Amino acid sequence: MTTRNFRYLFQPESVALIGASRRQGSVGAVIASNLLRGGLAGPVLPVNPNYQSVEGVLCYPDVAALPLAPDLAVIATPAPVVPELLVELAARGTRAAVIITAGFGEVAGEGGAGLQQALLDAAKPSLVRLVGPNTVGILAPNHGLNASFAHLAPEPGHLAFVSQSGAVITAVIDWAKPRGIGFSHLVSLGGMLDVDVGDMLDYLANDEQTHAILLHLEGARHGRKFLSAGRAAARTKPVLVVKTGRHPQSAKAAATHTGALAGADDVYDAVFRRAGMLRVNDLESLFTAVETLADLKPPRGKRLGIVTNGGGLGVLAADELLSRGGELASLSNDAVAALDGVLPANWSKQNPVDIIGDAPPERTGDAVRVLLEHADGLDALLVLNCPTAVAAPRECAQALVAALEDGASIPVLTSWVGEATADAGRQVLNAHHLATYDSPGPAVAAFMQLVDYQRGQELLREVSPPAPDSFEADRGRARAIVAAALRDAAETWLPEVEAKELLAAYGVPVTPTRFARTPEQAGELAAAMAGAVVLKIVSPDIVHKSDLGGVLLDLSGAEAVTAAAQRMQARISAAQPQARLEGFTVQPMERRSDSHELIVGVTVDSQFGPVLLFGEGGTAVELIRDRSLELPPLNERLALNMIARTRIHRRLEGYRGRPAADVGALARILIRVARLVIDVPEVVSLDINPLLADSTGAVALDARVRLGRAGPDSANRLAIRPYPGELEQSLTLPDGRVRLLRPVLPGDEQVIRAAFAGQVEEQILVARITQIDFDREMVLVATETGPAGAVPVYGVARLLSDPENRTAEISLLIPRGDGGDTLNAGLLDAIVRYAGTRGLAEVWIRVALADPVVRSLCVDAGFSELPATQPDEFSRWHLRLLA
Ligand code: ADP
Ligand code: MG
Repeated sequence: MTTRNFRYLFQPESVALIGASRRQGSVGAVIASNLLRGGLAGPVLPVNPNYQSVEGVLCYPDVAALPLAPDLAVIATPAPVVPELLVELAARGTRAAVIITAGFGEVAGEGGAGLQQALLDAAKPSLVRLVGPNTVGILAPNHGLNASFAHLAPEPGHLAFVSQSGAVITAVIDWAKPRGIGFSHLVSLGGMLDVDVGDMLDYLANDEQTHAILLHLEGARHGRKFLSAGRAAARTKPVLVVKTGRHPQSAKAAATHTGALAGADDVYDAVFRRAGMLRVNDLESLFTAVETLADLKPPRGKRLGIVTNGGGLGVLAADELLSRGGELASLSNDAVAALDGVLPANWSKQNPVDIIGDAPPERTGDAVRVLLEHADGLDALLVLNCPTAVAAPRECAQALVAALEDGASIPVLTSWVGEATADAGRQVLNAHHLATYDSPGPAVAAFMQLVDYQRGQELLREVSPPAPDSFEADRGRARAIVAAALRDAAETWLPEVEAKELLAAYGVPVTPTRFARTPEQAGELAAAMAGAVVLKIVSPDIVHKSDLGGVLLDLSGAEAVTAAAQRMQARISAAQPQARLEGFTVQPMERRSDSHELIVGVTVDSQFGPVLLFGEGGTAVELIRDRSLELPPLNERLALNMIARTRIHRRLEGYRGRPAADVGALARILIRVARLVIDVPEVVSLDINPLLADSTGAVALDARVRLGRAGPDSANRLAIRPYPGELEQSLTLPDGRVRLLRPVLPGDEQVIRAAFAGQVEEQILVARITQIDFDREMVLVATETGPAGAVPVYGVARLLSDPENRTAEISLLIPRGDGGDTLNAGLLDAIVRYAGTRGLAEVWIRVALADPVVRSLCVDAGFSELPATQPDEFSRWHLRLLA
């Protein structure tokens, strides 16, 4: 992850085009023309031994002949010579290249893979940044850069568009041009040998010219990098994404219900949501959505009020709203009474507010005014209009504009339906900057995009899990189970008994389950259990037991169980002679009235690592397909959201007199399963199906776990780096009191604010330092053992490294009095040691000259003061960690 040398890519002061051409219509000719007409302030230098000039500009025979080292090289020569060219350019001082040429192994069997490596080898020593190969090029219209073979020149503007597909770039330019949509950047990433989507997100997040980032993705690589960069970017500006392309489901994963339910595209949904990016369905929606985000402030919730002069339009909008997961706002009694005062007696009396087809234009304004005055239950308002003989769309629009004269407390969207006369209405709305859409569907879609965007922004603040819940997982037990199972196999299914034990070690309630080798033993075990039992077959070759009659419910008495087990064995042996039958499990028959069968699962995605799944369970899960996905780690809010996104959620909340299920217990189970997969990298997939839930809690009746030996970098398999509990350490003060040094948690925010109330300028930073991405930055706090928010914070140390991860700045929030010496020194020492483990070469501290406390801390910690280059209120202290 680095944006090093990106300024040479997007703000070059000189550009060479290697492979410039005069041949009409050739790529080399189109790029030359684009570069020369782009408006770049610096020189554009064509290179081609065959011409003296290109487009009337002096052409150089080769790189050696160039009068200066170009900041950026655009290369459009045949593939085999590109690596050599790069070596030459790098030696002259070029630090960025756009490789238009294809044929570096994007097409199998071309022998390009070796060439790809040669490209990387050529670029690496001097960190030349490469876009491509196989790219249409890059454009930065505000800078006058058009290093592409696009057929049209886009307008300058504030949208950045990044795509893996070159064709999409040119299509977008074509589409945007007549609409007057301008761009800060258009980037065709091509083969992404070096610069990838994550790098672009990092760069554009910090680019002031860019107000929103639009992505067209076919597939992301480096899941963690993509997610970290996406989250960082989405905190600063809207990031919208269209994802296309299908991905083959791994055959292995589909052996579990979770694997079959969690398609790669669903995983992307979860990733985009967690990153705070807004996903839309097609390219055009990218632009309408970004316009909506610019025009309207996001609503607080998803309750939409609808005003219409045509009942049918209202129904259409309401249907669309419900199918997209929105809610029809319900009108308060006050609102209905107030509307009675301005509408005819036969109005709909509910939302959608049908003001009736005979409505004169003023009625639209009256209804909107009343609703805005009673906006308590509304998060946004949609005003619909269809042309009628009594009210011209234009006049209705004017009435609406008048009603909104004093502003509205909630977003207002409009749709004037029709063409011949509706257009005049739309013009009025546009002139007054009201968000307007051609039909109710897109208007509702835009509303739901705002809702999703807002929710994503809220979720962005939920990236770190809270302190582990009071339950302590029995990690030793879990490790022992996994080690035993993988002793003789690289991959294996855990038998039901062990799978349940593993879950129990992480605090997931399970039915007590015993193993019996023989039918007789099964009978004995059943006799020892109070009440009816369930008998199940145990075989490494049978994944779905009930499909083969391998589950018998509600059996009582030793003899009955033994006889049933004998019949089960005989039946399965006959049906599946090759299956190894190892024995049976016996467990109590769970009987709960008003219970629900749920599924909780884990599958491992090839890009984004472990993914959690929750949904309606039972033997028909694949048919029901009611599920939601989320990435670990989870906290309570994320877990509850996950549950709320399923259809079964409504039933879990209780209905028709049936009691609600214990949703809090379900959230706890999800959080604990998330901890299990974080801690145990050997878990390849996991199914708890069914998880039986009722008002008293939930219990796993069946569990299936696939294990595989963990690779060396298993810690990096998680797309989101979880709370690094391993950094917790205790510190004993001279008077014997003990302090805990640990990574910051979001719950610490209020306590830190209160503790450092005097240090005003730091206050602004508090929200930022308590909600961090542990993959990118680190904040340690000195505190006591206990839940974040309930214990005091005595000091804070933050480490923020440059994008190349070479040097980092440390900042400290520490007590200003005396007495904190040991604590302060301990905190500084801990953060410096952490910097060492991150491979940083050097750390810095900026110390106010008037701050003797930090100054002496630095001296004691071995930092040295740098000579001041100019008078300053700060001095800089540094410590070299690597030679
Ligand atoms: P499989 O998924 O391999 O077919 P399960 O162990 O999930 O087998 O059992 C199938 C069904 O039997 C479950 O969906 C559940 O309805 C029921 N069942 C399983 N175990 C119990 C139990 N201990 N108490 C009550 N019902 C059970
Ligand atoms: Mg099952």
